[in-house]
Amino acid sequence: RGLQKHFPIKGGILGRMQGKVQAVDGVSFEVKKGETLGIVGESGCGKSTTAKLLIGLIEKDKGEIIFDGHALGERLSLKDLRRGVQMVFQDSYATLNPRLTILDSVAFGARVQGLDDPDDLARKMMDRVGLDPNRFAHRYPHELSGGQRQRVNIARALAMSPRLVVLDEAVSALDKSVEAQVLNLLSDLREEFGLTYVFISHDLNVVRYISDRILVMYLGEVVEVAPVDSIWSEQAHPYTRSLFSAMPAMDPDERTEEPPLAGDPPNPINPPSGCRFHTRCRFASAVCKERAPNLAGLTRRGDHLVACHLYDAGSGHPKAGQGVPK
Ligand code: SF4
Ligand code: MG
Repeated sequence: RGLQKHFPIKGGILGRMQGKVQAVDGVSFEVKKGETLGIVGESGCGKSTTAKLLIGLIEKDKGEIIFDGHALGERLSLKDLRRGVQMVFQDSYATLNPRLTILDSVAFGARVQGLDDPDDLARKMMDRVGLDPNRFAHRYPHELSGGQRQRVNIARALAMSPRLVVLDEAVSALDKSVEAQVLNLLSDLREEFGLTYVFISHDLNVVRYISDRILVMYLGEVVEVAPVDSIWSEQAHPYTRSLFSAMPAMDPDERTEEPPLAGDPPNPINPPSGCRFHTRCRFASAVCKERAPNLAGLTRRGDHLVACHLYDAGSGHPKAGQGVPK
């Protein structure tokens, strides 16, 4: 709730403060037990920073992280959070210690936590992710393919019995066919272990395949959240429409005829006033520059939330209440 993270930028020969990158600025959302929440947006929109905040890898400036009803720093310690939440990153090679065998990598966390028989647990997890422990236990990361290494990372995360797994571009480096296999594996594991996922990707088709709901970020803020079917049939926010129209559609009927995004993404050190998208939005009016829109439910669909004055009849936007024309 209300998560904020600004990174100070230092520069010049004296290393003086140049400003702050507003990486995440007032982000609120919930992840329901057993669902997969997909987070999309261009690079630099704050997806990865949000992920790192969620697992306590970086410290928030403001806001609350509530896991199982307990707020981090209050009734929930960082240690408790890290026990319940695991993360899988994109670069499967860089996240594995090259000097540890696969078995030792998978067993590592369980050993640190003093769990019973970490080797046995690691073998079971390897088996479950499709890596025969008899073949792979004593190999090293460089002897594996990208897809196999990512299976190791998944096994390593699962060995800690997490309830929430945050996957940040976890399949993005893989070939398409391997990507599909790993996505299917992730779906099966979610089912089998009753897991909950936050799935971050720049690839909308991948996010659609695995997610129940989709959250769209722009310049450190949430602009739209909706169930997959709802957002696929109607992208409410003008930014979401641009994002979807830029995607290589599998089905030409699903293409929206939105013109490509105008201009460069604004500087996150000094983001635009009001609605942060107003410098690139073809519907922007005076009120958009002055006031930031709140995230609110579309009247027809309460579980589809959008932050745009076009949907808020009381906003003073000349086209308010009409939404984005088809
Ligand atoms: Fe465009 Fe205004 Fe909506 Fe922002 S609030 S997306 S500028 S219409
Ligand atoms: Mg990222």
